[in-house]
Amino acid sequence: MSYRGGSSGGYGGSRDNYGGGGYRGRGGGGYSNGHGGSNGYSNGGGYGGSGGGDRMSALGAGLKTQDWDLSTLPKFEKSFYKEHEDVTNRSQKDVDAFRKEHQMAVTGRNVPRPVETFDEAGFPNYVLSEVKAQGFAKPTAIQSQGWPMALSGRDVVGIAETGSGKTLTYCLPAIVHINAQPLLSPGDGPIVLILAPTRELAVQIQTEISKFGRSSRIRNTCVYGGVPKGPQIRDLSRGVEVCIATPGRLIDMLEAGKTNLRRVTYLVLDEADRMLDMGFEPQIRKIISQIRPDRQTCMWSATWPKEVRQLASDFLNDFIQVNIGSMDLSANHRITQIVEVVSDFEKRDKMIKHLEKIMDDRKNKCLIFTGTKRVADDITRFLRQDGWPALSIHGDKQQNERDWVLQEFKNGKSPIMVATDVASRGIDVRDITHVINYDYPNNSEDYVHRIGRTGRAGAKGTAITFFTTDNSKQARDLVTILSEAKQQIDPRLHEMARYSGGGGGGRGWGGGRGRGGYHRGGGGGGGGYTASNSAPLGNNRRW
Ligand code: AMP
Repeated sequence: MSYRGGSSGGYGGSRDNYGGGGYRGRGGGGYSNGHGGSNGYSNGGGYGGSGGGDRMSALGAGLKTQDWDLSTLPKFEKSFYKEHEDVTNRSQKDVDAFRKEHQMAVTGRNVPRPVETFDEAGFPNYVLSEVKAQGFAKPTAIQSQGWPMALSGRDVVGIAETGSGKTLTYCLPAIVHINAQPLLSPGDGPIVLILAPTRELAVQIQTEISKFGRSSRIRNTCVYGGVPKGPQIRDLSRGVEVCIATPGRLIDMLEAGKTNLRRVTYLVLDEADRMLDMGFEPQIRKIISQIRPDRQTCMWSATWPKEVRQLASDFLNDFIQVNIGSMDLSANHRITQIVEVVSDFEKRDKMIKHLEKIMDDRKNKCLIFTGTKRVADDITRFLRQDGWPALSIHGDKQQNERDWVLQEFKNGKSPIMVATDVASRGIDVRDITHVINYDYPNNSEDYVHRIGRTGRAGAKGTAITFFTTDNSKQARDLVTILSEAKQQIDPRLHEMARYSGGGGGGRGWGGGRGRGGYHRGGGGGGGGYTASNSAPLGNNRRW
């Protein structure tokens, strides 16, 4: 049978084909192991639904390492892609030229050829029609190469930024994968598990998977901290084919026996570098230990430092890899980067001057990054009192407040958002026109990711960065990034770079950078938003 088959049958049958009971009842017996089980919440006490992140959650001490016996596990489908020659006559020379043109580098054994159109990707019609309904012209670079890789069933590493279309790169093959598996039986956990570093990213992934999974009635849930567990538990117990999770909350759910990972055969680690940077490595390892080792694993990362390579070599088998873009740290060339050398006490005035120009155009949207939650709150209050429609988002705000702020920013009601690095990646607000780095970030990777919030989906953007003498250690790295993107460089920055010594070379993504806290505490709950976000707008009508 051709894998491309004209309709949904092409992938070995739609899910419904399994409906007739043949696969049912496989649940318990076939699996060699029981699951950690019902030892309650080991970390004591509910979380009260307050501003929590996941970082401080238990490390899953109650989860036993599984002892997988592959010979007793039920078989599952994971390969949907035959050698590419039968759908394209493209020569190796053409393939090489295509990869070069799109700055793609592939490594690994027998990497499938890239596809250049949606039709060529060989998705079943029920997926294809959803993709076409989005009005996208053609696959992005990562999709061209990533789809055939993921559909081949092999383990995949993709190095690509948020904004490159990578969510669909793994979501569409995930849908195909699910539709080829036996239906869920009562008590089964998800078939696809997607781990993501932040709640915001998890929610965005959920939006995509909901859109494209609708036609085949794939159910999903998003499991993340900082909100009540009840609805998530209900979803899990009803049965979902896809679970998108941040690591801490998932561990809680596993420990409490609210779900299990025995059915997971397609695992995605999204923004792996970011998850490691946030200290999630022990949780990730614990979670993966609960998943059968012959699963398919797809790992995505914006960067490829030692820690991420280690994770790949520990958990992926014979993987194939695609890198999109230059492997050196580089900024999006559509972004105009302005770096101003200033003193700390000049920052507010300078920011206002910029905002006056930026907000002159009502269509503009500006994201302002600060180094700490306190400064984010201070700036927001200051801006609001000065009449600017600004709101802030950071790890101390409760989830409903964060969701609300993001929504207000997205729909343009509050076109200025002040954020800590919790918002520097993963947030997909397409029409941010300006980024202001009120405080310079801790490292140049974060700089590139922060400014990358603008200039998305082919648009242009502007990034304005305040750089003080306190940041001089980072001057050399920054000059390298600016030069690579052919930006103008303030002579004073050049000067600092010259005297700043080695700076960061090869710093990579070390753990333990200790970015602020995601604390859980707070208690209380109760309505209302934090003081900074509810400060009245001043009379000075800026908007
Ligand atoms: P991501 O990198 O997954 O965060 O995607 C960034 C944005 O690109 C999302 O808003 C997607 O809906 C959009 N997108 C995904 N695939 C395509 C495509 N082939 N053409 C244009 N836009 C796309």
